[in-house]
Amino acid sequence: MNFINSYLQLNEGFYERTLPTAVADPRLLLWNSALAEQLMLLNELPQDPCALADIFSGNVLLPGSVPVATAYAGHQFGSFVPRLGDGRAHLLGEVVDRDGSHWDIQLKGSGPTTFSRNGDGRCALGPAVREFIMSEAMHALGVPTTRCLAVVTTGETVYRDTPLPGAVVTRVASSHLRVGTFEYFAARGNHEALKALCRYTIERHYPEVQGEGSTLYLDLLDRVIERQIHLIVEWMRVGFIHGVMNTDNTALSGETIDFGPCAMLGVYNPQTVYSSIDTMGRYAFGNQPKILQWNMSRFGECLLPLLGDNPSNPVKLVELIIDEFPTRFEQKYLAMMAAKLGLRDCLPGDKDLIEAVLNRFKQKTLDYTLTFDRMTRSLLCATTADQVKPDLGACFARWQKRLHDQGEEPHEVFRRMRRANPVVIPRNHHVEAAIRACEREEGTELVERFLQVLRSPYENLTHTVEFQDLPADGDRFYRTFCGT
Ligand code: AMP
Ligand code: MG
Repeated sequence: MNFINSYLQLNEGFYERTLPTAVADPRLLLWNSALAEQLMLLNELPQDPCALADIFSGNVLLPGSVPVATAYAGHQFGSFVPRLGDGRAHLLGEVVDRDGSHWDIQLKGSGPTTFSRNGDGRCALGPAVREFIMSEAMHALGVPTTRCLAVVTTGETVYRDTPLPGAVVTRVASSHLRVGTFEYFAARGNHEALKALCRYTIERHYPEVQGEGSTLYLDLLDRVIERQIHLIVEWMRVGFIHGVMNTDNTALSGETIDFGPCAMLGVYNPQTVYSSIDTMGRYAFGNQPKILQWNMSRFGECLLPLLGDNPSNPVKLVELIIDEFPTRFEQKYLAMMAAKLGLRDCLPGDKDLIEAVLNRFKQKTLDYTLTFDRMTRSLLCATTADQVKPDLGACFARWQKRLHDQGEEPHEVFRRMRRANPVVIPRNHHVEAAIRACEREEGTELVERFLQVLRSPYENLTHTVEFQDLPADGDRFYRTFCGT
């Protein structure tokens, strides 16, 4: 296989060379053949599921692969941890797809490394299946995300609160660089490593960033923020709650990464939190933009020592960029929300309308996805419009008038709204049911059926309806757990 191991060009402080630990009885549970094809792996890999299970459990190493565990630090729930790193993951190398893009292939749950601290280096089946489902769903929704190539069960038990079946999940990411990677070297005062990391990041993700000295680093900060804003605005569009937006889970590529305690928003309420450990609601749905700004400030701080060539005060330079964040974010957020309402542009006054609609959602405990889907369909269907009218109250007429003033054909507005509003999302109770089916060894029929629907989230397939229903308890008692 044509592996590139570009991370190895960085010096050894960036990683530990380490091999996966073999597992007892690997079996291929989920396989992403579309992704394998996109990565041009089909001709490179065996077709036999047993052989694939051997490879994607870490039992058999692909030729050309030099596995490493990468070093990173991170702010977890606001507190700095100077040494985290891949404690249960092995980066096998990069492959190049047919468009020339590079993709990291990483095993997660593949055994302990020097970064494991007290962890066992393993992953339970549930979180592995969750990552597969959620990342496929996000990809199909059009949200930048890492993806999963395979889930292999290990035949071994992992011990968490209870004994659980173990698994290895293969993650595909455009890189595994995190804000925490920068923090790792910044905390050690290793400026040469920071510079090398910036060069590597720019080459891999931001080739448009050019210039020298402080201009280069400030441009990088600006571009990283731009991509992160796009990402979190997309999360807000589909109702994704990451659940653990620590800086070690913030990817420089601007992709969604680490699906541990993530969940989807049902009833619209910005304060929604499902993660059992997020007792303060730090990572609540509506807090995600603020946390992003906080995380970008931490990234900016890492760059401070590299800005010395500039006559201005480095802190001021970074602050200027960070201070623009709220305005930049709001502009992108309002444009996205305007599209959800079918508006061609976001005009003065539309912010008010958007807020009024969302307040109404909150007041009436309306489901975020279902209501926007109904509003979309109401454009072409009088019966649906009759359903939506009482839901929206006074907002309905206001919204209709705004659409009318825009002077577009209903079909045109419908198309815009359809692109912004999915008909189906990976609802928490269906994700849980699919995970449970895998844990109970009931086969993968349910997961595959669910995935088929999730892969066309803007279309009604014949069995989409099976996955659109709302949870009986409105997810009031739903809790998610960190995927350890
Ligand atoms: P995560 O919650 O998956 O983002 O992980 C946070 C940190 O804990 C990372 O450094 C992981 O490598 C480490 N970690 C999580 N679970 C385990 C485990 N079972 N064994 C070793 N390290 C782990
Ligand atoms: Mg993580």
